[in-house]
Amino acid sequence: MPDSGTLPRSEDQLATEHFDVLIVGAGISGVGSAYHLIHQCPGISFVVLEAQDSFGGTWLTHKYPGIRSDSDLHTFGYRFKPWTSAPIATAEEIRRYMGEVIEENDLARHIRYRHSITAASWSSADKRWTVEATNTATGQPVRITCGFLWMCQGYYRHSEGYLPQWEGMESFKGTLVHAQTWPEDLDYAGKRVIVIGSGASAATIVPAMAPTAGHVTMLQRSPTYFRSGRNAIEIAEELRRLQIPEEWIHEITRRKILFEQDMFTRRTFQEPEKVREELLADVQQRLGPDYDVTTHFTPRYRPWQQRLAFVPDGDLFEGIRSGKASVVTDEIERFDEMGIQLKSGRHLEADIIVAATGFNLCMLGDIAISVDGRAMNFADTVTYRGTMFTGIPNMAWVFGYFRASWTLRTDLVADFVCRLLNHMRAIGARQVEVALRPEDRDMKLLPWIDDENFNPGYMMRGMHLLPKRGEKREWSHTQDYWKEKDEFPAIDLNGAEFRYS
Ligand SMILES: Cc1cc2nc3c(=O)[nH]c(=O)nc-3n(C[C@H](O)[C@H](O)[C@H](O)COP(=O)(O)OP(=O)(O)OC[C@H]3O[C@@H](n4cnc5c(N)ncnc54)[C@H](O)[C@@H]3O)c2cc1C
Repeated sequence: MPDSGTLPRSEDQLATEHFDVLIVGAGISGVGSAYHLIHQCPGISFVVLEAQDSFGGTWLTHKYPGIRSDSDLHTFGYRFKPWTSAPIATAEEIRRYMGEVIEENDLARHIRYRHSITAASWSSADKRWTVEATNTATGQPVRITCGFLWMCQGYYRHSEGYLPQWEGMESFKGTLVHAQTWPEDLDYAGKRVIVIGSGASAATIVPAMAPTAGHVTMLQRSPTYFRSGRNAIEIAEELRRLQIPEEWIHEITRRKILFEQDMFTRRTFQEPEKVREELLADVQQRLGPDYDVTTHFTPRYRPWQQRLAFVPDGDLFEGIRSGKASVVTDEIERFDEMGIQLKSGRHLEADIIVAATGFNLCMLGDIAISVDGRAMNFADTVTYRGTMFTGIPNMAWVFGYFRASWTLRTDLVADFVCRLLNHMRAIGARQVEVALRPEDRDMKLLPWIDDENFNPGYMMRGMHLLPKRGEKREWSHTQDYWKEKDEFPAIDLNGAEFRYS
């Protein structure tokens, strides 16, 4: 991938480079947003700044064994580019797909890698952002101005994962690794491995390591819901047999998946007990009648109150059935030289301990944001549809869905941002800000997400960092794709919540 911007520049040059739009991040959101800008806002100038040395974001950062999506790629893929392989994809396949989007749309010339943004300040007088970055290849500072900041930096810190601190960790004589910073040369052949955690990452790592390792123990404090199924979608296979064009297959398969996901999500609210029973019955059937599903696979929360991980072809359960992997549900008391002492009194010995303990939520890519010389505290703002924020002009953030594929929202938000940019051009506005209307003045302000609705650990740990939400739909990230897909295109850009100047 060509890398422009690695040459040192003088202060003068730094200060003069200007773009209409600056996209932060070349993950699946940043690349998708760049595609939409080119196609929906012809003639607009833009640049994508990415801290890492290539595109992919999540799919570049994570390198643990077996790394794969747990969403199907018909909906995790963009609506504009058909996905033509098995629905659950490896990180490598996702990056290949993104690479094709970059190549087919000549996006490479707009992307600058190894550009880590540290600060962005808005000037209402100049109607522009001044963005400060470091070219990590040369150590040189880079300054770019832009009219609009499109935040596609994701929601967690890429440099390091979340590692709880347990007593005695330093005394462990084996190797301790975090799933997010995987040493690619780690040799685990024949080794005793403990994987701490039971989220989607642990459920991927355990079956991927099990055939090679001596034994893999998944150590969890509390269980997670899993759904299993064939890594194939019948309707896509059938349409392919009929030699239907891939564009049609993509669209039809997306619609079918979205329809079924909607039904399933509704059922988790309407009849959570029934859904719980079905999920657990499937696990029991996969693990055999004698397996203790109550202890190891029965979560304390309602299905979909936390992410529900998909296990393609039931490989996690295969690993357990084969005896190469096992599950321990217990709490860690402390680490010691040989492994982990559990609160129950049991001791687990290990050569390698893998912390699949999640990530650190991080706001706006750790970029210090200021508006007219005033440092912004993101948590003091109120969100407009989880995309714009009161008090921060000319900025939009792509924050995807939890219960549906993230990328569905990348496409939706992109349509909205492009429409907004075109509208501003048409009315001659250079600044747009969202603000509460008189009728919103008494609206109750609440945390970003209702923990009754969705409450994974990383969100609960970082809720105080996130903007507020209002009681009204338009002042919240509803997490409801099925409504937003109609609401977003219908947004009235002349509404009183938009202030232009
Ligand atoms: C292991 C894992 C598996 C997942 N699987 C799924 C799944 O199957 N389905 C699903 O819907 N979601 C999944 N998610 C959620 C996932 O993060 C999103 O789906 C999606 O990949 C996020 O894309 P993004 O482009 O918005 O952000 P990211 O992938 O986080 O990319 C953001 C990019 O911005 C860059 N960046 C950040 N800050 C700066 C800065 N200051 N300066 C310059 N660049 C910066 C980063 O380097 C990164 O490349 C998963 C998450 C993880 C961690």
